[in-house]
Amino acid sequence: MFKVDQIRKDFPILSRQVNGKPLVYFDNAATSQTPQQVIDVIVDYYSNYNANIHRGVHALSQEATDVYEQARHKIQAHFNAKHAHEIIFTSGTTHGINLVANGFSSILKKGDEIIVSALEHHSNIVPWQMLCKRTGATLKVIPMNQAGELEMDVFNELLNQNTKLVFVNHISNALGTINSIEYIIEKAHSVGAAVLVDGAQSCPHIKPDVQDLDVDFYVASAHKMCGPTGVGMLYGKEEWLNKLPPYQGGGEMIAEVTFEKTTYAALPHKFEAGTPNICGGIAFGAAIDYMNAIGFDTIATYEHELLEYATEKLSSIDGLKIYGTSKHKTSVISFNLEGIHPYDVGTILDKLGIAVRTGHHCAQPIMDYFKIPGTVRASFAFYNTKVEIDALVEGVIKAKMMLS
Ligand SMILES: *Cc1c(COP(=O)(O)O)cnc(C)c1O
Repeated sequence: MFKVDQIRKDFPILSRQVNGKPLVYFDNAATSQTPQQVIDVIVDYYSNYNANIHRGVHALSQEATDVYEQARHKIQAHFNAKHAHEIIFTSGTTHGINLVANGFSSILKKGDEIIVSALEHHSNIVPWQMLCKRTGATLKVIPMNQAGELEMDVFNELLNQNTKLVFVNHISNALGTINSIEYIIEKAHSVGAAVLVDGAQSCPHIKPDVQDLDVDFYVASAHKMCGPTGVGMLYGKEEWLNKLPPYQGGGEMIAEVTFEKTTYAALPHKFEAGTPNICGGIAFGAAIDYMNAIGFDTIATYEHELLEYATEKLSSIDGLKIYGTSKHKTSVISFNLEGIHPYDVGTILDKLGIAVRTGHHCAQPIMDYFKIPGTVRASFAFYNTKVEIDALVEGVIKAKMMLS
């Protein structure tokens, strides 16, 4: 049985007050909170075996190397990658996307096409625009409909023999829509295009199986799934990672260096130049252990309950409009009150100790589509409660009274 009160005790931050009120943290899509189990791993690393990895002969370095590589294996197992060397440690989703985009600079040529979706985060738009500029490739966009779902018939029309890459997020951070990536991957492969899936928003809620998906690249950030900031992972199929050139040059990523020529290290080190976020990688592994101990099925079921409860309660407020109404969505609610700027609603909620996100959520094209400056976004995690949702609903009603 899932006992949320028990779970909440794992998160020290959840017992603090904000502006004299108990904190209600509904900004989980921006970053999640960290359980004591992960904090302990971070403290243990710096207290007991902090050292640089892979090079030292001394005991601390070997310990740190072992635990860091164990974390890579945990991530491999979690995503069901075939090989541990297909897991590249990055500083986060943005880094992973840039690494792949940079690699494709040497593969794409003029006339090639890249398809992205209208639901993308800026970090999944800008690197492709830069890549197109460098290579002369063209960027095409899968549009979305009023429910915030991608239009698959248009996607099919966009696909052709020139399509070399398709980039799509698994779950939209602004609207919570779960995209049909299985379908997108299958169709893209049928014309020989590779697919990169941005999993930043899906990994906190579901457990992707990269082999089952047959996805070419998959990226995620630890800080959205109970881990620390500044670390993430790129999964790439071995044959793709071998094909892509290194992203950065430096220590760790070389086999041999002379002034005439450098040969690169084998995977995964080829893509891991310099000293990585060692403690972060280890803590990422601990965060995955923590979430798996609760279980992703349990998490999904409970969060769905929260989503349905909040959707019903918020919808009953007159003049409140929810953006993103797909049947396939995670626990994210983007909304506005008629005639009221989202920032003003967010400010009043903050005074009540309720943390939501307001603005364009790094997804300006989506806001342009709805012709709005932004939304108020409440995003729930498995440690949130219906009592907290009640506080949000009351707060929104209060904001409406004060601002209209
Ligand atoms: C948060 C997020 C990103 C960026 O992640 P970083 O950790 O900031 O690199 C990219 N895509 C989506 C869908 C996100 O939610």
